[in-house]
Amino acid sequence: MSRIAYVNGRFVPKREAVVHIEDRGYQFADAVYEVWALFDGKLADPKGHFARLERSLAELSIDPPMSERALTMVLKETVRRNRVREGLVYLQVSRGVATRDHAFPQAGTPPAVVVTVSRVDRAASEARAAKGVAVITTPENRWGRCDIKTVGLLPNALAKQKAREVGAVEAWFVDDLGLVTEGGSSNAWIVDADGILRTRDTNANILRGVTRLSLLDVAREAGLKVEERPFTPAEAIGAKEAFITGAGTLVLPVVQVDGKRVGDGSPGPVALRLRRLYIERAKASAI
Ligand code: PLP
Repeated sequence: MSRIAYVNGRFVPKREAVVHIEDRGYQFADAVYEVWALFDGKLADPKGHFARLERSLAELSIDPPMSERALTMVLKETVRRNRVREGLVYLQVSRGVATRDHAFPQAGTPPAVVVTVSRVDRAASEARAAKGVAVITTPENRWGRCDIKTVGLLPNALAKQKAREVGAVEAWFVDDLGLVTEGGSSNAWIVDADGILRTRDTNANILRGVTRLSLLDVAREAGLKVEERPFTPAEAIGAKEAFITGAGTLVLPVVQVDGKRVGDGSPGPVALRLRRLYIERAKASAI
């Protein structure tokens, strides 16, 4: 059990960890977050996650709560106090606490910072990857700035619940042109009928997944043909393979889309190879 949270400068037992009722994250979803995978107690893909955090904060004009160096120390200390080796680190930074008013509070209002750590059962997640998972599709109904990693995740939560109710683990949003944007908490990929590895380009309204970005490198280094080009659900069903990526799922084979089999209905060799290569790289880059 992970028991300690960092809340605004203090390490506190989780059951006593509280935020203010006028925290702007709570009232307006005026907050950003980041999630790092933890391998052997170390933060994976650190550069990508810190860069995206900086960008998310800047896009919303939220002051960085502390330097990257100080934040790294806070994250690592939270991990240490929880004695978690394999898991996830969650960071949330809100615009802070102020009397409810839509427009920003007074300059100098300190951002509010929360860090929690959770454990991941790697054996269970490897077993899940070996079997593959199902996804469903759902109409894209999110705002136009999904490139910013905000806690405004209600459409994502509803979509993922809809998936869970039919035994799927993820929902892929599909835009007005009939193209998959991304999953509720992951990026979407296929190995298409021509053997080309495809994932949506970041000009679209999607989160620039850190795992996605690292995996593009890994795939190119592995000599695969890669295109940042969207695909339809029908193309995914007719593809050789499909998978999703994220700090939580890493590289997770998808074997069913909307109840229809992808490929032969079992995880494909490209996805499984990329999962292994990504994990190797994530471990090597971890700090
Ligand atoms: N897309 C969405 C909407 C997400 O919420 C996430 C992760 O939470 C991702 C993609 C994957 O991003 P990353 O690889 O940085 O975890």
